[in-house]
Amino acid sequence: MSNTDFVLAIEDLSVSFDGFKAIDTLTLYLDRGELRVIIGPNGAGKTTLLDLICGKTRATGGSIKFKNEEMLGQAEHKIVRAGIGRKFQTPSIYENLPVFKNLEVSFPRGRGVFGALAFKCTDDVSSRVQEVATEIGLADKLDMEAGLLSHGEKQWLEIGMLLMQDPELLMLDEPIAGMSARERDLTAELLKRICQNRSVIVIEHDMEFVKRIAHKVTVMHQGKILAEGSMEQVQKDERVIDVYLGH
Ligand code: ADP
Ligand code: MG
Repeated sequence: MSNTDFVLAIEDLSVSFDGFKAIDTLTLYLDRGELRVIIGPNGAGKTTLLDLICGKTRATGGSIKFKNEEMLGQAEHKIVRAGIGRKFQTPSIYENLPVFKNLEVSFPRGRGVFGALAFKCTDDVSSRVQEVATEIGLADKLDMEAGLLSHGEKQWLEIGMLLMQDPELLMLDEPIAGMSARERDLTAELLKRICQNRSVIVIEHDMEFVKRIAHKVTVMHQGKILAEGSMEQVQKDERVIDVYLGH
């Protein structure tokens, strides 16, 4: 396919595990600055789709173009460097380090002969840490040991660690699981802020939350896309009610 304006263009993507098609000729396009929510029953292939995009799982066929560049077959670290960040369900923060350090170590390192970081002005890193800490609502907790943060704050810190790399596409798998009502509210606001400068894909089950954040909703079922559109459109789609929303 020729070049497009889509930040992400997935076409005819497939992956099989022992003959079972977890993703089946799936096609999906994502706009720049779009916040897309993917919903669907357990086992639909949602997490597998993110695994394929970030290079954790190898596809059997198809294409994943990020800013018109083929990502399929590229190493995970190259996909990260291309600008795709992925948050897993369990946070991988450094519990015994302060929030500031957690963010600081996530600043992308230079590739120079002597390591460009050595020459990188520490003020630049500091101001980026401040910027990100403000964005994730942890600006007044920079000195706190990360292990002492609440469950929700830990999730935001991990989002912040990804933001340090300034990804153009951020992917989050069930980000509000285990959060309090207030933390959910704040996460909705955070995701709305984040997608002002980048595209975001969120997998989520909580329909009230989905309604609040989604620009567009994709419904997956058995490795395929069952429906796609606004929340209102997919909510009244009979097929979606049958396989997912009705349960
Ligand atoms: P969802 O996130 O929508 O609940 P998943 O993507 O986790 O669904 O799983 C889709 C299907 O693929 C499930 O049947 C799951 O058991 C299977 N699957 C996922 N990853 C693997 C793997 N690495 N090996 C074998 N089967 C897998
Ligand atoms: Mg999943």
